[in-house]
Amino acid sequence: MKKNTAKLELSEEAMKTYGYQVVDAIVEHHLTQKDQKPVALGSREEMDNLFLEEAPEKGSDPSGVLEFVLEKVMTNSTNMAHPKSYSFVPGPSNYVSVMADALATGFNVFSGGWVASPAAAELEIITIQWLLKIFGFPSKKGGGIFTSGGSMANLTALTTARRIKCGPDFSKAIIYLSDQAHSSNIKAIRVLGFKKEQIRIIPTDIEFKFAVNKLKNCIAKDRLEGLQPFCLIATSGTTNTGTVDPLTELAAICKEEDIWFHIDGAYGAAAILSKKGKQLMKGMEKADSLTVDPHKWFYQPYEMGCLLVRNHKYLSQTFTEKPEYLRDIEGNTSEINFYDHGIQLTRRFRALKFYMSIKIFGLAEFRTAISYTIELAEQTEKRLRKSQLWEVVFPATLAVINFRYNPIGQNMDAEALDRVNQHISENVVASRKALLVTTILHGQVVLRMCLINPRTTLEDVEETLQLCEHIAQNYAVLTN
Ligand SMILES: *Cc1c(COP(=O)(O)O)cnc(C)c1O
Repeated sequence: MKKNTAKLELSEEAMKTYGYQVVDAIVEHHLTQKDQKPVALGSREEMDNLFLEEAPEKGSDPSGVLEFVLEKVMTNSTNMAHPKSYSFVPGPSNYVSVMADALATGFNVFSGGWVASPAAAELEIITIQWLLKIFGFPSKKGGGIFTSGGSMANLTALTTARRIKCGPDFSKAIIYLSDQAHSSNIKAIRVLGFKKEQIRIIPTDIEFKFAVNKLKNCIAKDRLEGLQPFCLIATSGTTNTGTVDPLTELAAICKEEDIWFHIDGAYGAAAILSKKGKQLMKGMEKADSLTVDPHKWFYQPYEMGCLLVRNHKYLSQTFTEKPEYLRDIEGNTSEINFYDHGIQLTRRFRALKFYMSIKIFGLAEFRTAISYTIELAEQTEKRLRKSQLWEVVFPATLAVINFRYNPIGQNMDAEALDRVNQHISENVVASRKALLVTTILHGQVVLRMCLINPRTTLEDVEETLQLCEHIAQNYAVLTN
């Protein structure tokens, strides 16, 4: 046999050069946010022109490829950590966790089973315990798992809820969620094979909260028809407005009706670390399961979601399979195999970045950052209210604020208002100076800022609002 020369390796020298260049690029990216444009715009055609090629048979110099990637790929990707990225839910991230991810990947730690990596499993147990405590879940009995994101956490939760409440026959099972629930829940319900007739979308009230009376009526009617109400999904921090559903009331209904109480706190739950958030999250500790997205307001880089459950057995009872090729690595029950607690077998070592960032910065730093961003949204609301030009459509809630251009005295009709606000957003994005898009609230086009980035300042917001005002005034000149 010929000696193998294809080991997919670089020389020590080349590894170091390549590695240092990557680190230098990441550090520079973190240090020069202000000079960058947050928005990337590119058509398929433009991207094809940059990248389309056959897989090369022959390799090339690492530095050259890296330079090409930095120049063409990274600059054509929206920067969700930019201080002026206000849309969707930004991903401010943090450098400590970025490096932790590099370590986890660099050592390619298998975070599936205890025997493979006891320390990785232990760190997941420990960090899940930290989160259980933060959210007021039972620390001994409770459990959880890190996932790729909130969507997977919700899917894992609903799979568990169905298993525990319905067993194998879920033909009569009914699930309840509000019209403000995140789309990932509907996706999960569909993945699980529920029929449309098994889903109840309950309207929300004027503040976008679950209309409790309508929910009660719906559950009662379903019971009379011999159906099985089995799961309710509440949201703590809706994506649109940051609204928190009436958790305590919903918890009581679920308890009385023997319904699984899931809270989707992917976006907002982390606010519990702040004083204001803690008030809002009252009742959260009563949930059977809770989705949190550390890659949002816990400032972790993608991908990191988390599902917490009241009782860790819920997860093992739902996901444990015992194939013969895993029988040698079962271990005892205190030594958790996370492949028995969720969908993935091979898993990356997500706990490490959470662990290292909390160890290095301390929880207090996270509390301060979260509190600051809630305050920043409130200050933005004050600024808008002081102006003749702006209307606050929904007050600052959990660092989200919704507003629209609506100058006093101009009496624009509904359509003109929608048009000017759409125009503002489109032109802000086209300028690439800020990522600011619209949403629809009560049938109106509104601008939405999600201000969870602790590196965003009131001056950043001011500059963006002035840009909006400038665009709106030019538009008025054009249309008059
Ligand atoms: C972002 C979000 C999700 C989806 O989470 P991903 O991490 O994007 O998969 C689910 N629910 C809510 C409320 C969210 O804000």
